[in-house]
Amino acid sequence: MAKPRVVFYGCASCGGCEKAVIDLEEDLLNLLDAMDIVLWPLLFDSTMKNIAAFKDGEITGSFINGAVRMSDQEEMVKILRQKSQIIVAFGSCAHMGGIPGLGNFYTKDTIFQRVYKEGVSVENPEKISPQERITCDSGELTLPEFYDTVKALDQVIQVDYYLPGCPPPPDLIMNAINDILKGELPEKGAVLAPNKCLCDTCPRAEERVEGIAIEEIKRPHQIKLSPWKCFLEQGIICLGPATRSGCGERCIRANMPCRGCMGPVKGTIDQGTKAFSMIASILGLEEEEGMTEEEVKRLINDIVDPAGTFYRFSMPASLLKRKRME
Ligand code: SF4
Ligand code: SF4
Ligand code: SF4
Repeated sequence: MAKPRVVFYGCASCGGCEKAVIDLEEDLLNLLDAMDIVLWPLLFDSTMKNIAAFKDGEITGSFINGAVRMSDQEEMVKILRQKSQIIVAFGSCAHMGGIPGLGNFYTKDTIFQRVYKEGVSVENPEKISPQERITCDSGELTLPEFYDTVKALDQVIQVDYYLPGCPPPPDLIMNAINDILKGELPEKGAVLAPNKCLCDTCPRAEERVEGIAIEEIKRPHQIKLSPWKCFLEQGIICLGPATRSGCGERCIRANMPCRGCMGPVKGTIDQGTKAFSMIASILGLEEEEGMTEEEVKRLINDIVDPAGTFYRFSMPASLLKRKRME
C-alpha cells in the first residue's frame, strides 16, 4: 500500500517551525518510514511543477508554516490546498500571522524605504528598490509581488487544522502527524492543542495572590525577576490569561513572561483585546483603590509598544488586521 504523502512548506517564516520537526530526533526517523514526504524545501529540492502534477487530493496532508506575504507564497498554498486532503496551519505565523504579521504596522513602501535605503548597513547610492519586472542583457527577470498586508494562512485558503506555537511544541507536532497518518483527527477547524488557558497550567498560578492590582509596570530587564512569583504580581505584562496552554510553559519556566504565541483559547475573538482588557482590569482603575486617573494614564503610558506587546503573534488574525492606511 502506498504511504501517505506529506508536505512541509514554509511561506514568510524564520524556518524555526521546520527546525522543530527536525528536533523530533529519532521519532522523525520512524515518521519518515511511515510517510512519503513529497515536498520539503528545507531538506530537498522539488518544484511547483512536481506538486502541480499530483491529482487533486493525492497529498494526504500539508503542514504549511509562515504567513502569506508574497504572491509566490499565495500561488503555492493555493496549489497545495487543491492537492491536499488536509491543510494544517503549522505554527503561529500560519495560524495568526505571527511575527511577520507585525509588518502590518507598516506599508510595502515604508518597509522598502527602511530595508533598502535607510538601514545603517545599507549601501545603495542609487536608491534602488527591488522591482517585480526588469529587462537586462540576459532578458526579462521577474520577482514575486511583495504585498502591503501580511495574511494568516486561513485568510488565503481554507485551513483544516491549526497547530499553534512559535514553534509548535514537539509533542503536539508528533501527535498531529500521527493522527493524520492514522486518520484520527478531530472536527475540522480544531486547534490541535489543549483548550485551557496558560494560567491554568502555569506553575506560578498556585502561589498567585487574589486580586492582583498593578501599581507599576516594568519590563523584564528592569528588575530582578522572582523565579516563582506570577509575573503580573511583579508588574510585568504576561499574556498567560489570554493564551492557550500546551507549550509546557516554556517562557515561564525560563523566567520570562508569556507573549501569547499559542494563540487564544476557543471562543476568543481577539487575543490582543482580551489581553489588554485583562491588564486594564488589574491596573487599579477604581478610585477607591487609591489610583487617580492621572496615575492610570501614567501606568498605561509605561507599556512600551502596546500593539507589539498585545498583538505580537496575532495582528493579521485580529479584528484590526493591520494599521489603517491612508
Ligand atoms: S511560528 Fe515562530 S518558529 Fe515558526 S516560522 Fe513563525 S517565527 Fe518562526
Ligand atoms: S499571568 Fe503569567 S505568570 Fe501569572 S499565572 Fe498566568 S501565565 Fe503564570
Ligand atoms: S509561554 Fe507563551 S509565548 Fe512562551 S511558548 Fe508558551 S504560549 Fe508561547
